[in-house]
Amino acid sequence: MIQGRSPPRNKRFPAALGIYGIMFAALAGAGLWLTVDLRDSRTRLLQERSDLALQKSQFMSQWFGTTLVAVDYVLRDIQEKLGPDDLPAPSPDRQRALGVWLQEKAASVPGVVGISVYGADCVFVAAADPHLIGFKSHQKICDTPDPALDQHSSIQYIPAEKSASRRPSILISRNNITADGTLQGGVLAAIDLSFTQSWISSIVIDPSEVVALVDGEGTLLARNPPLPTAIGRRAPLPPQPAFGRQRSSITFEATSPWDNRRRTYALSKIENIPMVLIVGFDLEGSLGEWERRAWQLAGGLLALVILAALALHAHLVAVRQREDLRILATTDALTGVANRRQFMTIGSHEVARARRYTATLAVFMVDIDHFKTINDTWGHPTGDRAIQALASTMAAVTRDLDVVGRLGGEEFAIILPETDAQGALILADRLRSTVEQQTTVLSTTAHPVRLTVSIGVTTLQPADTGFEDLLGRADKALYAAKAAGRNRVVSLSDPGPVLDPAQDGYQTR
Ligand code: GH3
Ligand code: MG
Ligand code: MG
Repeated sequence: MIQGRSPPRNKRFPAALGIYGIMFAALAGAGLWLTVDLRDSRTRLLQERSDLALQKSQFMSQWFGTTLVAVDYVLRDIQEKLGPDDLPAPSPDRQRALGVWLQEKAASVPGVVGISVYGADCVFVAAADPHLIGFKSHQKICDTPDPALDQHSSIQYIPAEKSASRRPSILISRNNITADGTLQGGVLAAIDLSFTQSWISSIVIDPSEVVALVDGEGTLLARNPPLPTAIGRRAPLPPQPAFGRQRSSITFEATSPWDNRRRTYALSKIENIPMVLIVGFDLEGSLGEWERRAWQLAGGLLALVILAALALHAHLVAVRQREDLRILATTDALTGVANRRQFMTIGSHEVARARRYTATLAVFMVDIDHFKTINDTWGHPTGDRAIQALASTMAAVTRDLDVVGRLGGEEFAIILPETDAQGALILADRLRSTVEQQTTVLSTTAHPVRLTVSIGVTTLQPADTGFEDLLGRADKALYAAKAAGRNRVVSLSDPGPVLDPAQDGYQTR
């Protein structure tokens, strides 16, 4: 039994889902592409920053290196020009002359605040600043009991309290060391740390950038942006890969021990001097623009996904509503079978189809006998239940191909495609007897109520102009069945027998 000839409800969804499936697949593809692209651009950005840090650190280390090399040249020059009597101790006159000469030398190199000559015991014997004579140098080479005296030149940071000038300084020295490794004295230049700091501060840097000068032991000598509290303090040098013999620069990512910020660093050695110049770029600062773009794109994509989901939801709701409306417009609310309008539409189609294929077509008109009595005796609700029970019986007895419709009240009709007069009669009587024997409803007082039906049967005739002709003839047959005593089947097919349950045989009219 078919209620209405339209596609079943859930068969409408796959097509819509297909379109949305493609849409979501496209969005997923876009998401994947975006992720890969963003990851690549992040890697590229960090690489660019790392390369820039490397270039800057190399350039600055060379620049600072030339300053120190200039100092070293001056020291070497002084060392060569010192006479054999100047060490271990020059005469007072010579001391004064040396002092003037050292002053001139110190003034010739930027950043150098003083130059002094010291003896084997590291005590100053001549100095640009005469007050320093007699002062013992605090260089490592003098403090360490067993110094590694293969160092002809040394450089180190010295804090204010150990410095002869009472200011934090960078000390550069040239030592006279004999073939057997004993220190005979040397020449020492002091660069005021504030000179280095003002040099480093004069470098224009990016807000996310940091430049630092660190000595061989990890002591921070100068920094831009300035960090006065950390100057002169030692920090474990960042976990740096070995420079190796050939390399003078390395790059790495690390967290700063001074401000705990994660940076991409480049570290360049200053040639021949145990000092490194570090340039770092803040990862967060460098990636700020990238992050904003990533959030924008992710937000845009999310908005698209939400829009697509909302559109899909709205579409599914609309499809469901349309389907509900269609069912509402084509089916009978009480029984769920086709309503009169739908039934008439299907009937017209079936007549046209039967004509096209010269097929047979039968129509039943079914009406409950003495229904008024059922209503009057057991009440309207019980009557309704009887109508529903009859609809169920009809659905059970007919084939899938057949169409049951409720024409009004307790009056039903059935379209039976591919059914001739003979087959229609047999089926009609099976329906009639099934109702009589098996269709019982309980009244509201739980009393079993039996019912019978009369059925008018007809088949499509060559003279019929439309479905209305068939329905009219079936109605006439039904009227005849009622007139013949009810609970029987009358066929108005030509030629048509009449089935009379009382006689249990065919009755021809
Ligand atoms: P007959 O054997 O000649 O058919 O007698 P009948 O009493 O069944 O007569 P008829 O077919 O004319 O009766 C129709 C009655 O059906 C009239 C009305 O009270 C009742 N009826 C119509 N629609 C409904 C309905 O939806 N529910 C109920 N309970 N009764 C209905
Ligand atoms: Mg009736
Ligand atoms: Mg009736």
